Amino acid sequence: MNKNVLVAVAWPYANSDIHVGNITGSYLPADVFARYHRLAGNNVLMVSGSDAHGTPVTVAADAQGVAPIQVYQRYHAGFLELFQKLGLTYDLFTSTHTQNHFKVSQAIFQALRHNGFLYSESETQWFAPAQGRFLPDRYVEGTCYICGFENARGDQCDNCGSLLDARQIIDPRSKIDGTTPELRETEHFYLDLGALEPAIVEFLQVRESYWRPNVLRQSLGQILANGLHGRAITRDLDWGIPVPVENWQGKCLYVWFEAVIGYLSAAIEWAQLSKDSQAWENWWLNSESLTYYFIGKDNIPFHAVIWPAQLIGAGEWFGRLFFDRPGTRLTLPYDVPANEFLNLEGQKISGSRNWAIWGLDFLSRFDPDPLRYYLIANMPESKDTDWDWDDFVRRNNDELVATWGNLANRVLAFAYKNWQGQVPDPGELRSTDMEILQTVEAGFTSVGDYLQAVRLRMALLEALRLAGEVNKYLDQAAPWFEVKTNKEGAAKTIFTALKAVDSLKVLFSPFLPFSSQHLHATLGYSQSLFGEQYTESVVDDLGEHTVLRYKAAPSNDQWHPSQLQPGQTISQPAPLFRKLEPEVADQERQRLSQG
Ligand SMILES: [Zn+2]
Repeated sequence: MNKNVLVAVAWPYANSDIHVGNITGSYLPADVFARYHRLAGNNVLMVSGSDAHGTPVTVAADAQGVAPIQVYQRYHAGFLELFQKLGLTYDLFTSTHTQNHFKVSQAIFQALRHNGFLYSESETQWFAPAQGRFLPDRYVEGTCYICGFENARGDQCDNCGSLLDARQIIDPRSKIDGTTPELRETEHFYLDLGALEPAIVEFLQVRESYWRPNVLRQSLGQILANGLHGRAITRDLDWGIPVPVENWQGKCLYVWFEAVIGYLSAAIEWAQLSKDSQAWENWWLNSESLTYYFIGKDNIPFHAVIWPAQLIGAGEWFGRLFFDRPGTRLTLPYDVPANEFLNLEGQKISGSRNWAIWGLDFLSRFDPDPLRYYLIANMPESKDTDWDWDDFVRRNNDELVATWGNLANRVLAFAYKNWQGQVPDPGELRSTDMEILQTVEAGFTSVGDYLQAVRLRMALLEALRLAGEVNKYLDQAAPWFEVKTNKEGAAKTIFTALKAVDSLKVLFSPFLPFSSQHLHATLGYSQSLFGEQYTESVVDDLGEHTVLRYKAAPSNDQWHPSQLQPGQTISQPAPLFRKLEPEVADQERQRLSQG
């Protein structure tokens, strides 16, 4: 039976370009997962957008001397370009700076307030006398009061990963001018996490058997050790979503509170753009739907604790306030398969130090599939991993080119040359032919099981192992010699190998969509394996924003073994991948160290 699968992808902050660590942390695994589920015939909705608000954007705007909206729009445009070049198939990639997102976020706030899970309190906050304004947490840096790290941000420590209370930071300094701020009184709304704790613990315990250990450690483990406490969800800031309460001018919803609501608001916007304004309910008001959140490890508490708390706390009042549907409840996260970090040549990736491989820059010199291949084969699913340029060249040449690309190419080239561009008629297959086909066909279960469990590395390795088995079969059957003495036997071998390659193409396609589609066309299929990406401009009261969308493939049920028939016309093949010279690794390392 078809399942409804929501693929919720981390919202990139619109204050920086995207590097390979961001890509492998959340965006790429989400796309592989979405592509697989679409091929398997499930109803997929993959959504995200640019995180346009909050101090990460205002800090960048201040530094560049421009308005926050210009910063957001510039990076947003870059994201759209990268995601198309890399083939990240968002059904909707929008932004938090939309009228729809404002409305949905304010409705969640109102629902929480109605249900008694918000309270307001005066608190002290860092105030910069020089600028005459309160400093958001991100504008304050200092020493972490938990681990002693000297460059902790006000809201979070990058060293120990703890969420911090900015007021307790030791030796605080303003990020704007380095001056020492002072504590002053201001009033804010708090999310009453303490009152929601029993429900959150229950929510997590139900998922304990299948969540990743690193995610459980930072959610259930933290709660059982320290408990949950109220958390301020408004800020003294004018760039963002106004607090929907009278006499609260000049204050905004905290960017983390509203950005996670984007998973819901983007689904609603997608439904509106798709001319079926209720379609989002198939994922969001459906207890059978499966919702997956693809994020990096630095965002675990927000997705595994705070976002579920917002959804539980809003309860059925979101349905009452936002649209006339009392008695409905929003779907809670099914899984949060957060990844660890990817390092670069043994060091932590740092955008500000330019120790990074930037997505668009990489794609100006290399094809997208080799990048996707390396990042999945090396994905930090259970521990930090490292991007090593020698390893990149080696895996490209030994695995992608030698094991898979050459297999497809030599089988197709041989068939094209010896059977006049047609799939040969094999007559009766031999037992060795049947065996290799069964081996490959079993991959639809084994690779599919790994993909469903979000074990993408293992899934890719399994597909590569099967390609290796087909290589062995071919080496033993040696049709290149067989064709001279026994063309009928060679026809059986090549028919079998073409069928195996046709199946492997599907098994590889969630990982390597560009080369798989190329191979699909060479094998004579006229319809595409996948749909098409396109951009669209949307106008609302806040202005205009460009979104990335996806038009589904003609057939949504392709995760099954090849049904290739004798006589099908095939084209002259071209190599699927390029072999790289070993010098490439040195050149790229040099480029990196020059910054
Ligand atoms: Zn720390």
